[in-house]
Amino acid sequence: MRVVDDITAILTGLWTTLKHILRRPVTVQYPEEKRTPSPRYRARIILTRDPDGGERCVACYLCSAACPVDCISMQAEEVEGGRRRAAWFRINFSRCIFCGLCAEACPTTAIQMTPDYEICKRDVMDLVFEKEDLLVAHGGKDARYNFYRHAGIGVTQPRGEGAEERPPVDVRGLLP
Ligand code: SF4
Ligand code: SF4
Repeated sequence: MRVVDDITAILTGLWTTLKHILRRPVTVQYPEEKRTPSPRYRARIILTRDPDGGERCVACYLCSAACPVDCISMQAEEVEGGRRRAAWFRINFSRCIFCGLCAEACPTTAIQMTPDYEICKRDVMDLVFEKEDLLVAHGGKDARYNFYRHAGIGVTQPRGEGAEERPPVDVRGLLP
């Protein structure tokens, strides 16, 4: 019966309203009051350092390739000792959709999302963050990980001396 269905729908709606009338309001008086988002909330992006204080980013361009809105750009360079890093690194937060794909793609855990959602600016150009704005002095969510202890073979340590790395095989020793 159509009329009965309509009345039921109206009463259900009214009941929902009545239920919430006596509840405490959940409005937050921002910016005086600030809520703490979940640690996994995806907002401002940072570039982290390894436990030795070195820059984790090896300028591999994977984050830039993974970014669906193309808002990450950089230029790679090699420093003394053969280690790679970004000569410059730029994120345009006016285009970023905070999807987290860059952090997922990063092999060194250099690029990480933080719950800091307060990055509004009056001038859109201020939303273009350079490397010095992004680089922090800590390791973020995985403070102990050091990419160059596991990879970068032959760059920061001789071949075969990285963590969980086996010595290189001497192919001449395999000959009959
Ligand atoms: S969070 Fe998404 S949109 Fe923002 S920089 Fe990373 S990949 Fe690009
Ligand atoms: S932040 Fe990570 S994925 Fe992006 S260039 Fe640096 S090492 Fe590669």
